[in-house]
Amino acid sequence: MLKKTNSIYRADYLNLIKNFTTHEQQEVLNTFLKFSQKNLPLIEKCAWERHCDPKLWAEMAELGCFGAHIPEKYSGTGLDEISYALMMIGLEWGDSSLRSNASVQNALVAYPILSYGSEEQRVKYLPKLATGEWIGAFGLTEPNHGSDPGSLETKAMETEGGYILSGSKQWITNANIADIHVVWAKLNGMIHGFLVEKGRLGLTAVSMSKKDSLQAGHTGEYTLDEVFIPKENLLPESAGLKCALKCLNEARAGIAAGIIGAAMFCYETAWDYVMERKQFGIALAGKQIIQVKLADMATAIAQGLSTSLHLAELRERKAADFSHVSMLKRANTKIAREVASTAREMLGANGVSSEYPIMRVLKNIESVYTYEGTYDVHGLIIGNKITGIPAY
Ligand SMILES: Cc1cc2nc3c(=O)[nH]c(=O)nc-3n(C[C@H](O)[C@H](O)[C@H](O)COP(=O)(O)OP(=O)(O)OC[C@H]3O[C@@H](n4cnc5c(N)ncnc54)[C@H](O)[C@@H]3O)c2cc1C
Repeated sequence: MLKKTNSIYRADYLNLIKNFTTHEQQEVLNTFLKFSQKNLPLIEKCAWERHCDPKLWAEMAELGCFGAHIPEKYSGTGLDEISYALMMIGLEWGDSSLRSNASVQNALVAYPILSYGSEEQRVKYLPKLATGEWIGAFGLTEPNHGSDPGSLETKAMETEGGYILSGSKQWITNANIADIHVVWAKLNGMIHGFLVEKGRLGLTAVSMSKKDSLQAGHTGEYTLDEVFIPKENLLPESAGLKCALKCLNEARAGIAAGIIGAAMFCYETAWDYVMERKQFGIALAGKQIIQVKLADMATAIAQGLSTSLHLAELRERKAADFSHVSMLKRANTKIAREVASTAREMLGANGVSSEYPIMRVLKNIESVYTYEGTYDVHGLIIGNKITGIPAY
């Protein structure tokens, strides 16, 4: 049985959304929340069958979420930061895979083209990404290099008319279905971003079919066996690891907000359950320990939502630095992990049944807690900023 209620506003105990966002911004949240609510049965089916139904991708595209951070002149919708955060919350209320699709497309593929690309590259690729006609992927992680991408081994060699890329990438969202890959590789020892289109000779991308998390989304791995790409596919301003890290920073900001949507979903599901489920003669909601759990969950969500809106506001004023983003990616994924775990416990045995959605969410959160910098690595980023001493 799927959950039946749908009041994200009940999980917003401090009424932050109603009081600190505009009517237009709330409309963005409501649009994506409605999309998630309507599609919950399909999301469940996808997670069970381990794929993303193209219908979900098409509807997300129609709602404009793939061009949310792309300017209108390249067919995007150019949302403000608070609307963007609320969009991510609405999507992740449905499933972290959906929010991941939006994160990758906007922050990890469109952003580097927008920031480090030539005008010809922007005109060629951004409208296709904004409208969802093309799916993008961002390849930084390799089989032997995750938290330490500076050591990556994929190489680019200059050749007549372009570059030859060799290496492999693993744990890449949408890599197996992507039309375009942003591939990070070393050219003369320095990391650069390259655009590799699907179908290039020597590019072999496959699904990582044993993944037990984000099952309603795709994750792939690929090898680059002396793949030739033309000169114009180098992102001209992308030299240095910091360029790749800036993309991650963009994506982390969306994750920091979005994951609170997953926590809200778990809170609502648990609330529904304990209001109805009777043990020892009355609804579980009437038991002290259950009430304290609900209070702890609502408090943690309020903290995460409040700081997410604050971060979005700082980003709108260009006043947020990368360590602020790290702090909230770290703190909010932990909040969501704890809220989801408590919700699972409150559903008893039903908490481990796929008849109820909590295990799906809990499994998703394990990836979100790990990708785009693990919880501990973000602790080290913040520690470095606080002390000035890198301890990686
Ligand atoms: C579903 C999913 C989707 C992903 N999508 C993408 C994508 O689209 N593009 C992409 O490039 N990558 C992607 N990733 C990869 C992700 O970013 C990496 O998994 C992540 O950065 C961690 O790297 P790792 O798995 O190699 O772990 P490792 O770096 O091997 O870390 C293992 C453990 O060691 C800890 N650790 C690492 N360094 C230190 C240190 N200095 N001190 C103390 N502890 C440390 C970590 O916190 C972790 O607990 C994805 C991952 C997943 C799970």
